[in-house]
Amino acid sequence: MTFSVTQICSLLLIVGAITIIYLERKFPYRRGIPFFRDGFWTDVIGYTIIQSFLLKIVIFDYIILPIQGRMTWDLLPQISAWPIALQVLFFLVTHDFYIYWFHRWQHANKFLWRTHEAHHSNEQVDWIAGMRSHALEIIVNQTIEFLPIILLGADPAVIPIKGLIDGLWGMLIHANTRLSFGKLKYIFNGPEFHLWHHADHEEVFYANFATKFSFWDAIFGTLYETSKKPTQWGLYYEFPKNYFAQHLYALYRWSFKPKTKPLKNDQ
Ligand SMILES: [Zn+2]
Ligand SMILES: [Zn+2]
Repeated sequence: MTFSVTQICSLLLIVGAITIIYLERKFPYRRGIPFFRDGFWTDVIGYTIIQSFLLKIVIFDYIILPIQGRMTWDLLPQISAWPIALQVLFFLVTHDFYIYWFHRWQHANKFLWRTHEAHHSNEQVDWIAGMRSHALEIIVNQTIEFLPIILLGADPAVIPIKGLIDGLWGMLIHANTRLSFGKLKYIFNGPEFHLWHHADHEEVFYANFATKFSFWDAIFGTLYETSKKPTQWGLYYEFPKNYFAQHLYALYRWSFKPKTKPLKNDQ
């Protein structure tokens, strides 16, 4: 019996998820966060299962495929001739560079912030919390991620391998674990920096934008590091709990209620 690359990647994703959940239970960053925390089912069923499935069809079949049919792009050397590991590395670094700047722009621009606020709305950040992303944000980011892979003629295995790395790294940086990469944390982004990005503290509203490689923050002066832990998490205003309301809220504010507790400054 032989397995396809996609099947192997799916299996590895499940093994990775179980490992990360174990690390959360064994070495928690914040104590007292239950496995079935507030919003857990919205994130698992609404965002991870249904939204991911539907957006995969939208992005690949209704955006990338029609564009691919109209374009041939052979300006760059034949990427398919490179070793697969090099192809994956190339797309990992280039997309991560893009996502650093787009993420930074989302925090700086009030309209783009509407597509990103859902991602910050969990107050109990854990392994699956990172899946909470507005559909518009996913459509933009994943089209920009996968379109070049297809247009530049990369090996078909690059897509599931990159999908696996995205999934694992996404779970890891949001994981409620005090696991650290040690000195390598300045290269590879981990929960240490990204959990702070999800804190409701003024000093990180414009810091720690990196997804996979934390050196972007170091290079472009947005790295925030402290030995302290955040005391407040999530958004500074009330946010709807329901999946559909969370999406609608980006387009229309039917109410706006700041949370009563004041922002704390870590300085
Ligand atoms: Zn953010
Ligand atoms: Zn995040």
